[in-house]
Amino acid sequence: MIYDVIIIGGGPAGLSAAIYASRARLKTLIIEKTGCGGQMITTDLLENYPGFNGGINGFELAVKLEKQARAFGAEIVYDEAVAIEHGPSKKVITANYVYETKTVIIAAGTHAKKMDIPGESEFIGRGVSFCAVCDAPFYRDKNVLVVGGGDSAVEEAGYISKFAKNVIVVHRRNELRAAKILQKKIKSHPNILVIYDSMPKEIFGTESVEKVTITNVKTNENKDLIVDGVFVFTGLIPNTLFLSDIALDKTGYIITDEDMNTSSAGIFACGDIRKKQLRQIVTAVSDGAQAAVSAQRCIENL
Ligand code: NAP
Repeated sequence: MIYDVIIIGGGPAGLSAAIYASRARLKTLIIEKTGCGGQMITTDLLENYPGFNGGINGFELAVKLEKQARAFGAEIVYDEAVAIEHGPSKKVITANYVYETKTVIIAAGTHAKKMDIPGESEFIGRGVSFCAVCDAPFYRDKNVLVVGGGDSAVEEAGYISKFAKNVIVVHRRNELRAAKILQKKIKSHPNILVIYDSMPKEIFGTESVEKVTITNVKTNENKDLIVDGVFVFTGLIPNTLFLSDIALDKTGYIITDEDMNTSSAGIFACGDIRKKQLRQIVTAVSDGAQAAVSAQRCIENL
């Protein structure tokens, strides 16, 4: 069995690539590690994905995309790609199998970056979380710290505030990075306080998180915050460890051209894993469509 296209990753970029590839009658396989949807399923409400007035739940959109891909004939296996063999005929190697394919689309996304401070790893699952949709309901009427100043931190602080009594956002600079519309929502929120120029230094607790010490980066002054939970949204790391002989930029993202070609012929990359300016679901699905069309052209030229 030789596939036309193997797509590594079943997030919005991978699912969109699968829809376009399978609709073009290419024999298409998605290899997905856990479940389709990627980071999108951890978002309660996607307000900026076009076509859904009032927004759509991330999980709901993932289910729709997966159904659409399967309806056109794309296959999905749950397995982890550990290597790609380059060359005219390519192989995607997983823990359980070796898949042969004419082209590969890498849509493996990113994972959450840790702060790497004492207490962070120790309290994962006992007060430290990287996913508001998964864990915010555990903090009903409790006090929660959110770390970061980007879109994720600010958007998720708003979501957590639906459950928690008080949410404190700690950001290392004096200005949030998040989109202005998101900033406006939390700045006027009665239960959300933003502390600027500060970073968590250590997380303390016994059974679960009880206290976080934060440091003001300008004055070096420490302050203890009594909280029950810490949500960390300090950025993303591209999932490229399994790759070799593919050009990456200095921060580890895959370099592509605008047709999603990587530095290796017949291997394409799309979505958050590639070097680009705007990481959104709408740009991920656009990338996926382009990667599938480029894969199709590549096969026609073989
Ligand atoms: P991000 O934009 O990289 O923001 C990470 C935040 O964490 C920044 O504010 C950064 O501070 C801070 N930070 C980094 N390392 C830190 C550390 N060690 N300690 C404390 N703070 C630290 O990451 P993101 O918010 O997860 O967003 C990732 C991508 O997804 C972005 O492109 C974003 O636009 C997109 N996204 C979009 C939406 C939406 O449109 N609704 C929602 C979520 C995510 P500095 O600002 O000082 O660097």
